[in-house]
Amino acid sequence: MGLAGCKAFIAAPRGRTAGKSLQGRAFLHDYDWHQDAGFGVLELIMTAPVVVASWISLQYYGSSVAPALIGRGNKLLHNVIGGIGVVEGNGGLLRPGLPWQSVHDGDTYAHEPLRLTVYIEAPRAAMSDVLERHPGVRALFDNRWLHLFALNETGAMAWRNAGDLEWEEVARERIIEADMRAHRNPARMRAIGRATIDLIRRARRRCPACDAPGYGLTERVAGLPCAGCGAPTMLCRADVLSCQRCGHRAEIPLQPAHADPAHCADCNP
Ligand SMILES: [Zn+2]
Ligand SMILES: [Zn+2]
Repeated sequence: MGLAGCKAFIAAPRGRTAGKSLQGRAFLHDYDWHQDAGFGVLELIMTAPVVVASWISLQYYGSSVAPALIGRGNKLLHNVIGGIGVVEGNGGLLRPGLPWQSVHDGDTYAHEPLRLTVYIEAPRAAMSDVLERHPGVRALFDNRWLHLFALNETGAMAWRNAGDLEWEEVARERIIEADMRAHRNPARMRAIGRATIDLIRRARRRCPACDAPGYGLTERVAGLPCAGCGAPTMLCRADVLSCQRCGHRAEIPLQPAHADPAHCADCNP
């Protein structure tokens, strides 16, 4: 598998996943605990391949969510220093993690930063035993760097490791809800896009009095006069632009300058 995109680690009889599309995103181990007297193979899986998978997953995770801190920067600018690592450009700190090109294809993330979920078909007590003997592995789960689920006799996701060697039953009913995460929800993405453009416009507009950036719309004034009788209505008559620094304020009248009498409390009560 290409390692970018990894999201799951599955140790179960191969029949559980045969024929299912995992989109090349899972580490698979053919494991049948009934054949594993003493759970020596389980211990090996949880302390070696799971740990290696965690390194890979967390390296991608860190390089995607905190590229400035954990990512290796732009591969095209790398210089090898002293045979032990690379710097970006002609100086700075040694760069750990993965280069930007490994996690981003120029348009979008090649790796979705998820913490790896480990699914193992084995008795919970046997897994708890292994975790108890290997505090370093246990810490990965207790501190939520990885998630651990126990599959039951039918291969279903039955128990979730809740940390501290506790397990909680996975609810049988499924709750389906819209994905409201900002990078997945088209309505939110449009709203965030508009808000961003507003913010940029505002940041670029300077106060005519003191030249500070950030001069912009802060309120709307009601009272657009009625075209029939001239009385103020609830409709807006002006936008107010103001400066956060010097308090300079300007009312910009809106067009049209009069309200349809249909909106007037006197002409059309
Ligand atoms: Zn000002
Ligand atoms: Zn009127």
